[in-house]
Amino acid sequence: MGKKNRNREILNILHSNNQEQIVNFVKEKELIQTTPPLCANKNCKGFGTKQMSFSPRKSHKDQYNWRCMTCLTYKSIRTNSFFEDFKLTIAQVLLLIYNWCKQTPHDTVAEEVVCDRAVVGTCYKRLRKKCAKINQNSKITLGGEGRQVEIDESLFVRVKHHKGKDLRRQQVWVFGLYERPLEEQKILKKKGRCLFSTNSRAS
Ligand SMILES: [Zn+2]
Repeated sequence: MGKKNRNREILNILHSNNQEQIVNFVKEKELIQTTPPLCANKNCKGFGTKQMSFSPRKSHKDQYNWRCMTCLTYKSIRTNSFFEDFKLTIAQVLLLIYNWCKQTPHDTVAEEVVCDRAVVGTCYKRLRKKCAKINQNSKITLGGEGRQVEIDESLFVRVKHHKGKDLRRQQVWVFGLYERPLEEQKILKKKGRCLFSTNSRAS
């Protein structure tokens, strides 16, 4: 499936108002816990051992809950997920994430998702933090003695028409580093090519 069709499919789900479909989507993408938690009620004979069940609960905003079938206590399906601290619906949070990927300005998203501008800011900030953490944990090391590292920068989000809402789009510059395999470095040296080329296969 093409990227455009996939985006269309995701947006259809998010705008569907079909909570079953939305919850299935976040489960399938593992954006919420998928393994049943164990009952945490100390007064339950199944405390720490009884697996809770994923159950529909019409009176709840999410319309689903984890439930211990022994003591009948509930647990939110949002526990330990990105959705946990938001009062918005799961679909609204997903729409915020979708728009963050597209670098949509705060005001536009707040209007579209029907939420406070400050909530958009909080969500965007949390997403940035998550990305920074993933980058930090990936521990990439490049270079070293006798190694060549290419660097390049690129503008990912451009202002296309120089007018209207385009000008509110924040430009995103990305800085990249690339270490060529040693074999390729030798070939390049023989031919006297510039190692700071922006095209790894430049002729
Ligand atoms: Zn229980």
